[in-house]
Amino acid sequence: YYNNETILWLNGEFVKASEAKMDFYSQSLHYGYAVFEGIRSYKTTGGETKIFKAEEHFDRLRNSARAINMPYTWSNETLINATYEVLQRNNLDNAYIRPVVYAPVNMSFVKNDVSYIVIEVWEMAPFFGEKLLRIMTSSFQRPNPKAFKITAKASGHYVNSILASQEAKANGYDEALLTDMNGYVAEGVGANMFYEKDGKLFTPATGNILPGITRATVLELCHELGIEAEEKQITLAEVKDADAAFFCGTAAEVIGWESFDDIPFKKNWKETVSRKIQQAYSARVTEADIVVEA
Ligand code: PMP
Repeated sequence: YYNNETILWLNGEFVKASEAKMDFYSQSLHYGYAVFEGIRSYKTTGGETKIFKAEEHFDRLRNSARAINMPYTWSNETLINATYEVLQRNNLDNAYIRPVVYAPVNMSFVKNDVSYIVIEVWEMAPFFGEKLLRIMTSSFQRPNPKAFKITAKASGHYVNSILASQEAKANGYDEALLTDMNGYVAEGVGANMFYEKDGKLFTPATGNILPGITRATVLELCHELGIEAEEKQITLAEVKDADAAFFCGTAAEVIGWESFDDIPFKKNWKETVSRKIQQAYSARVTEADIVVEA
């Protein structure tokens, strides 16, 4: 992730990652009481580096912090400018960006005055390959929204994702699909899902999932391309009977599935509308800003 030269942004200062300090007494470490984002920057076709959906990601970071009652004092402008400068100082264009908001040592959880923030970056090449994933239904369900703020990207929630991912890999699969507390399809460990049936796309409705920014982008692309898309409650049987399926997320981008619980999909990935969405997404993230000549 980093070397001796890597720079991160810590509470307003540019600091070497190898010299940055965090307090072991911070209760963010003890309880997972922190919120974070996963963002990407891409080198666009115009040659410049662009953070994809920067405002949306920093809006979600603020909403995540508020959802768990952490003070959040930064404007998007401050954080986006800081992120561009961190990218520049590390000579990165295609990168993964990880802001984390965490607690000082003396956070009381009752009346919190201040949070800390760090923005870390590391190189990440765009993928968009032909690789397809073998997916299994996890024995772990997503956290019950009555026990967690499920729409907050809170650090502690991710132990659930780690357990599901470990189980899938131990069983020889690439990744897991988790159901919600009622047994309906929810999402992957770090991505939302869509399935395709008769040229139409379906994705779990919001409520029991993290409302992904990539999911929203896929819905936008469907609208633009005239592909029908529906948000609804989905059963595992519907996914098993699908023509195709994919995960979508900032890190995962759009990645197709080869099989689900060892059942191969009915259509060749290359002949699906899902594949068209994958191509449209790859074009969208690397699109240059439109410059209007005066
Ligand atoms: N669900 C979960 C649990 C995630 O961690 C992520 C990644 N942030 C997503 C969905 C996809 O969200 P996004 O498209 O905003 O990256």
